[in-house]
Amino acid sequence: MNSAPGSAADITADEWERAVVSIMEAEAVCLACHICPDGDALGSMLAFAQALQALGKPFTASFGDAFVVPRILRFLPALDLLTHPDDYPAEPDVMVTFDAASRDRLGSLAANVRKAREVIVLDHHSSNTRFGTTHLVDTGAAATAAVAERLIGRLGVPLTHDIALDLYVGLITDTGSFKYAATTPDVHELAGRLLATGIRPESVAREVWDRAPFGYLPVLSAALGRATLEPEVAGGLGMVWTTVTRADRAACGLPYDLLEGVIDIVRRTDEAELAVVFKEDDEGAWQVSTRSRGRVDVGLACVALGGGGHPGAAGFTLHGDVAHAVQQLRELFAQIEVATRS
Ligand code: AMP
Ligand code: MN
Ligand code: MN
Repeated sequence: MNSAPGSAADITADEWERAVVSIMEAEAVCLACHICPDGDALGSMLAFAQALQALGKPFTASFGDAFVVPRILRFLPALDLLTHPDDYPAEPDVMVTFDAASRDRLGSLAANVRKAREVIVLDHHSSNTRFGTTHLVDTGAAATAAVAERLIGRLGVPLTHDIALDLYVGLITDTGSFKYAATTPDVHELAGRLLATGIRPESVAREVWDRAPFGYLPVLSAALGRATLEPEVAGGLGMVWTTVTRADRAACGLPYDLLEGVIDIVRRTDEAELAVVFKEDDEGAWQVSTRSRGRVDVGLACVALGGGGHPGAAGFTLHGDVAHAVQQLRELFAQIEVATRS
């Protein structure tokens, strides 16, 4: 196994120092987060953009095509600081990437990473490929937002309400509202400092978790209605899986980016260690979410299928047949389970 879940490959003092010096000495800094950004990717980057603004440092912040902010994140502070990727410097001097485990997760901005003189990779994925020149990668961190907060502190920028809110959204999305194993005392300590700036947790939770248009209900019903339980997968640990098709969404006018929560309902299944949801996007590709209760490393399985993620939560993009991918997952989960037991 090349990944030890929960092992903290912490960041050296030298790397912190190099990152701080590069940013302070740069004339301008280019920021990028992973494509189809989640709360952690976009929240970390927008918090950092505000820190650079406070320092008076010119910056560009963006993410690769398609440049569309997901609906549930449209309440984040500082969205107006984003630049369209078409207007991104082709050859950045200093670039900082957020929550991207590999260069290809930056989509169209991967080309800009190749041309950048210096690339500071700020992340927490155990599958991180260390594609930069300086690596602020803490695989023990619950969220990239937690690493970003440390860098903001080292740059001497105080936490404003708006910086804290962007970081808080990263922290709650990646810990599933402080439910996942990565929710350490340090996570609560950080959340406490963020809340102290005046954040109202109930209004953030309402935006992130507790709202959807009515059309979400029939789409959810269709997806749950065809869920399949396979108790024999992974040596008897069990897998539950389902699909959400374009046709389901078209019938209710539901946009793709409102499907993030479906996996959280499917993964409740007591009889299954593993949960998988295939979500068909507007182009007809399947965005696949996988979750594990801890005895099977889904990150390894998703890396094998061209994606990535964490031991407990990972994903990949599928351009082929769902039935074939389910078969591949059955085989991978069997191997990974055997490997983790031995
Ligand atoms: P999601 O199921 O979309 O919530 O994603 C769970 C985790 O898997 C996140 O940490 C993502 O960074 C990672 N992930 C999801 N989709 C992909 C993908 N296509 N390629 C690489 N990593 C992915
Ligand atoms: Mn992410
Ligand atoms: Mn993350």
